Amino acid sequence: MWLNNILETIGQTPLIKLNKVTKDLPCTVLAKVEYFNPGNSIKDRMALKMLEVAEQEGKIKPGGTIIEGTSGNTGMGLALAACVKGYKCIFTTTDKQSKEKADILKAVGAEVIVCPTNVEPEDPRSYYSVSKRLATEVPNSWYVNQYDNLANRLAHYEQTGPEIWEQTEGKVTHLVVATGTGGTIVGTGKYLKEKNPNIKVWAIDSYGSLLKKYFETGELDQNEVYPYISEGFGEDFVPQNYDMQYIDKFEKVTDKDGAVMARRIAKEEGIFVGYSCGSCLQGMMQLKAELKPTDVVVCIFHDHGSRYVGKIYNDQWMMERGFLDVKTFKDLVSGRG
Ligand code: PMP
Repeated sequence: MWLNNILETIGQTPLIKLNKVTKDLPCTVLAKVEYFNPGNSIKDRMALKMLEVAEQEGKIKPGGTIIEGTSGNTGMGLALAACVKGYKCIFTTTDKQSKEKADILKAVGAEVIVCPTNVEPEDPRSYYSVSKRLATEVPNSWYVNQYDNLANRLAHYEQTGPEIWEQTEGKVTHLVVATGTGGTIVGTGKYLKEKNPNIKVWAIDSYGSLLKKYFETGELDQNEVYPYISEGFGEDFVPQNYDMQYIDKFEKVTDKDGAVMARRIAKEEGIFVGYSCGSCLQGMMQLKAELKPTDVVVCIFHDHGSRYVGKIYNDQWMMERGFLDVKTFKDLVSGRG
């Protein structure tokens, strides 16, 4: 039996027990390894869903152009769907993102426009502004807006949540997600809490993001916002995909701790993950005092390590940022790290 096209391989990703990196934890830790999606990230799910909903609503017509501000993973999902369904893609991204991500998007036919990171979202040079402007200028185009497009969280309500429930036979007690647009955590968390309201949903945030403070106080505190190195999660505003009633707790992780943990996952488990996967697991471990032996924790691993070979998987890059000291480096090389 064959599949009709690459889009039919999206979803049904494996749930894999972590064994070594989690040895000091009292509970079972399972990773939902989303790099098994064809675009190597979880974002294939929501990209296809957002496109299907836009088609149903008549927002994009055959031969049209998909426009989005994307750090790469959403772009990859959209680009794959565009190839199969016959659309063009123009993506704006920031100069903070890995060059590999932009090159991969170009390889699957997208046009990529790189914009400066350290400008306000309202600045005409920002990747938000440029994508919005293009959407008004390019004929027959559709501006995706993954932040406020609620088909994003719907994809996870329909797919990621049910898959985790079935794969754990309802035994899941905690869901842990590095959160950005909010689509993954809110869609998956809503489904799981509807199945069992006792399931705890933990959001992992970055230093330099205002999400945790907003969750705890309702304040949009711009003092919380500053540049950071981690990729794919944390925000400087609150996207409409958030519905905080499905989240129990936020935990912040440093750029260094997330990067070091990603490398440990790769080395100790043989699961070659992206940066935010390290942050996700690290954040969960920071909360280990709240976990007990019967708990079954599911961490979402959003993407693949290949997009970060010039960054967290590069020793020099790590050392230049003080993320890898000589002792840690020696430990990693000798296999003890
Ligand atoms: N990690 C990575 C690598 C991502 O690309 C994203 C998406 N921005 C996230 C985490 C956060 O997922 P979400 O946008 O669904 O909150």
